[in-house]
Amino acid sequence: MNQTTDALIHEYFSTGTLAYLPDSHFIDGSWRASAGRETLEVFDPGLGKAFTTVAAGDEEDVDAAVSAADAATRGPWRKMLPADRSRILLRAAEAIRSNAARLAVIETLDNGKTLAEAQSDVRNTARIFEYYAGIADKLQGETIPLGADHFACTQLEPVGVTAHIIPWNYPISTAARGLAPALAAGCTAVLKPAEQTPLSALLLAGLLHQAGLPPGVCNVVNGTGSQVGSALTSHPKVRHVTFTGSVNTGIHVMQAAARNIASVTLELGGKSPAIVLADADLDAAVEDVLWAIYSNAGQICSAGSRLIIERSVHEHFVERLAERARQLRFGHGLRNPDIGAITTPEQLQKIDAYVDGARSRGVRIAAGGRRVCDPASDAGWFFQPTLLDNLPIHDPLVQEEVFGPVLSVQVADNVEHALELANATPFGLAAGIYTRDFSHAMRLARDLDAGQIYINEYFAGGVETPFGGNKRSGFGREKGLEGLRAYYAVKTVTARI
Ligand code: NAP
Ligand code: MG
Repeated sequence: MNQTTDALIHEYFSTGTLAYLPDSHFIDGSWRASAGRETLEVFDPGLGKAFTTVAAGDEEDVDAAVSAADAATRGPWRKMLPADRSRILLRAAEAIRSNAARLAVIETLDNGKTLAEAQSDVRNTARIFEYYAGIADKLQGETIPLGADHFACTQLEPVGVTAHIIPWNYPISTAARGLAPALAAGCTAVLKPAEQTPLSALLLAGLLHQAGLPPGVCNVVNGTGSQVGSALTSHPKVRHVTFTGSVNTGIHVMQAAARNIASVTLELGGKSPAIVLADADLDAAVEDVLWAIYSNAGQICSAGSRLIIERSVHEHFVERLAERARQLRFGHGLRNPDIGAITTPEQLQKIDAYVDGARSRGVRIAAGGRRVCDPASDAGWFFQPTLLDNLPIHDPLVQEEVFGPVLSVQVADNVEHALELANATPFGLAAGIYTRDFSHAMRLARDLDAGQIYINEYFAGGVETPFGGNKRSGFGREKGLEGLRAYYAVKTVTARI
């Protein structure tokens, strides 16, 4: 089914949906209806309208999926040559590329992001499988010298059944960044997508299966966090949980896993600063800071949601940033605007309430500040790119994650003050630094309490660079070779010879 992007867009706007969308779970190598008969409506945030439904699972579906994944740890997947595992993951990357048009259009409809963003997510997803395909046959242990009378070595073994709980902001690429290393390491997986954005994970599981993954190795169960998520994270056969989402849910997930002594990777929220020093290339920095916050309509855990700017350039920089923010066109993702929709009405409401709160405290709103609609249809869930100027350190807009297109500006007297402001939140996910002074950049990189530091380019890096947080942003790392660690256990074999 290799339809072009234009044909798919035409089909959607003329029929209000697309043919052949997945509507069930993917369990043990086949599409399965729910044990119960519950369904979830799937909304297009660009129009604020449901365009399909999927099965909503419960404990019974989770148990079927985990049992299939558990059985698969003892089946052909276990005995398969690592080189063959690698070939399957490479074929999956190819399958993602050859279905890219359809995957991207569906991701745009499900999430509300722009088509260009969805296309980029799909390219990243293929690249993630390609990257981990390359390591599947190179996960090797070491020998340990113990003297003439012993031989000792380590081998890296898959941990077993892994659970993956995914939020709604990057449905396909977040699924891939957990699944690909888990499969490369020889684990099996059960994934629960966000209830609002189930489609691309289902399509991905289907493509992995077509690429040769044995039944039961990758399963997807749709449904709510309270039904499917909690049943999955507390299932005794799950050995590792990779969770991406909010801090509060992360605490529940960690508690559930603790009861089974299962390990966890937690990728939680952030309030990441972009620090602009007066000596930076300010033209480049304006554009970079703009997209650090407004990409994906600000629904990015590592978004640069605070601008920390040196006082001498503050006024000029904020003025230019506000001007650029006002130029950005928002609208339905398939019409390829600069900024897409907010994925859920609850999230839109939350953003609105945060900005209203700032307004009532007398904060200067330098750009945006209001809910809006798709200009072509006068529908959908959108929020203007918003800029809040000169916030005090204890303001909720400095301390709490909004998860929307809202940038909070803080003014710093000098580099030391910038560092102090940057570290003064409960989070520690990412930080951006803009300066031409190498020493300032490297000193800040050393002293900032964050899992990743971007110098003169926010979001620099790719699947190769490890990603994760400090403090309440979580722990464990995904991506890169570090991202494999959660999925293997080290076994030591020591012999007297
Ligand atoms: P969320 O409410 O925590 O949901 C995340 C996922 O957890 C969803 O699939 C959700 O199901 C599920 N869930 C809810 N309750 C659960 C439970 N008791 N047990 C197991 N799973 C449960 O987060 P969100 O509001 O959807 O997503 C936004 C948050 O995610 C933001 O705070 C953002 O910073 C964070 N995030 C972090 C990263 C990162 O890499 N660090 C990336 C993206 C997002 P439902 O769909 O039913 O709610
Ligand atoms: Mg949620």
